Amino acid sequence: KYMTTAEIREKYLAYFEDKGCKRMPSSSLIPDDPSLLLTSAGMVQFKPYFLHQKELEAPYIGTTTVQKCVRTNDIDIIGTTGRHLSFFEMLGNFSFGAYFKKEMCAWAYDFSVNVLGLPPEKLYFTVFEDDDETIEIWKELGVPASHISKLGEDDNFWRAGPTGPCGPCSEIYFDQGEEFGCGSPDCAPGCDCDRFLEYWNCVFTQFDGQEDGTLKELPSKNIDTGMGLERMAAIMQGVQSNYETDVLRSLVAVGEKLSGKAYGEDAAADLALRIIADHSRSVTFMIADGILPSNEGRGYVLRRLLRRAIMKAHSIGIEGHFLNDYVDEIVRLMGDVYPEIVENRELERKLILAEEERFGATLRQGQAYLSQALAGLEGAVLPGDTAFTLHDTYGFPVEITQEIAGEAGIAVDMEGFEAAMEQQRARARAAGAKDAEAAWSTYGGVHAELLKELGPTEFVGYSATQLETTVA
Ligand code: ATP
Ligand code: MG
Ligand code: MG
Ligand code: MG
Repeated sequence: KYMTTAEIREKYLAYFEDKGCKRMPSSSLIPDDPSLLLTSAGMVQFKPYFLHQKELEAPYIGTTTVQKCVRTNDIDIIGTTGRHLSFFEMLGNFSFGAYFKKEMCAWAYDFSVNVLGLPPEKLYFTVFEDDDETIEIWKELGVPASHISKLGEDDNFWRAGPTGPCGPCSEIYFDQGEEFGCGSPDCAPGCDCDRFLEYWNCVFTQFDGQEDGTLKELPSKNIDTGMGLERMAAIMQGVQSNYETDVLRSLVAVGEKLSGKAYGEDAAADLALRIIADHSRSVTFMIADGILPSNEGRGYVLRRLLRRAIMKAHSIGIEGHFLNDYVDEIVRLMGDVYPEIVENRELERKLILAEEERFGATLRQGQAYLSQALAGLEGAVLPGDTAFTLHDTYGFPVEITQEIAGEAGIAVDMEGFEAAMEQQRARARAAGAKDAEAAWSTYGGVHAELLKELGPTEFVGYSATQLETTVA
C-alpha cells in the first residue's frame, strides 16, 4: 500500500511511542561530541545515555526519533546508487538497559509486516557471525532459516566512530526482485547491487570502544536502531530509487524545470539531477544548523557539497543563481517537520548566493585550466601543484578535481597537493594572517558578519526539550 514519507515517519514514531518510548526531537547536525564531524546516525545524541552519564526519566523505556543525518563517507557515491544520500532521515528507537534483542526483533518484525504491510517472503535478515541467539529469535518469529544469514564485522558490527558505544547488529533487507540483482550466484543480502535493499539496522549496543581498540562491556545491554526513511519510502511507493520517492522526486523536478531536461532520458543528466537534489538538502540543513562554508572541518564538507552542486548544475546548463529554488522547495516539503530550515531561510539564501557568486565566477576558467592540464599530461597522475592551483585560484575542492580527473582515468598526486597546502599555511603564518581561511576565501569575513546579523536562529523547541531531559 502506497504511503507518503510523512505517513511512514509518523507511523514509526507513534508505534514506538506506544511501546513506551519517549518521542524526542532530532538533534543538530553539529554533534555535541568532539569525536564526530557531523551527526551521522540517530544514536549520536544518546551516547551519554548508553554510557549512563545521563538517565532517561520514568516511565519511559526508551526513546524514539527521526534524526537528520549527513554521511560524508557516502558523498563520492551519491547518485550512483539509488539508496545512498548525503543527507537522509533516520527513524530510530533506543533502549538504555530496558528492552533488548527479543523485544526489538519482535517489534521490528511486527512494524514491518503488520504496520507497513510488507510481505514476509520478501524480507531477509542478517546477524553478526557469532550471534546464534538472534538467529533463534528471528526463527521464533516465523522467519525461515533460508532468509537468515551471517555477516562479519564490516556489515554487522556497528560503530559511529573509532570509540564509544557499539555492538553487533542484525539488519533487515527487502528483496526488490531478482531483476534488480547483479546476477551473481553469490548475490545475497549485503551484496552491493540493488536486489536486497537494507532498510533497518538493529544494533545491540553492548560495548564501549576504547582508544586502544579494545571493547569494554557497557553497564547495560542496549538497543540502537536506525531505519532509513527514504529507503522505506521507496519500498512503500514501489520505486527502486530514493530519488523517485515523493520528497526527492519533487527536488529532481526543480532541476528538470531549471535545465529543461527530463529525468530518465540521459544518464549523465540524470546523475547531475540526483546529485543536486541530494546536495541541496544537505546544504540547506547544514546552514540552518549554523555551519558556514569554510576551508576546514564541517565547513569544508558544506563548501564541497555546495560547489559540487554548482558544478553539476553547470554541466546540465543551469547557470547563475539556482540553488535557492531548491531550498524553497525543501522548505515547502520539510519545513513543518524541521522548522529550523524555515527560521533560517535568510541565512540560507545569502550564504548560497555568496557561494554561487564566487564559485560561479571562477568555475569556467578552472575547468579550462584543468582540461588543459589533463590533455597535456604524460603519465596517469595529475601533479599536486595543479590540484593546488585549482584549489587556490579557482576554488576547486580537491575532491572535485579528483572526481573530474578520475573520469579521465587519472589520479591526483595527493601527497604533492597536501605539501603545497602545507606550504601555503606556512606562508600565511609567516605573513601573520590571523585567519588562514580568509587567505583562501576572500569573502571569509562576509560569512562571519552574516552569521552575526542573521542567526542561526536557534529553534527553542529543541533546547527546551533537551533541557528537560538533562534535568531529569
Ligand atoms: P549501506 O550498507 O547501504 O551503506 P549502512 O549499513 O551504512 O547502509 P547503517 O549505518 O546501518 O547503514 O544505517 C542504518 C540505516 O540508515 C540503513 O539501514 C539505511 O536504511 C539508512 N541509511 C544508511 N546510510 C544511508 C544513506 N547514505 N542514505 C540513505 N539512507 C541511509
Ligand atoms: Mg553505508
Ligand atoms: Mg550496510
Ligand atoms: Mg547497516
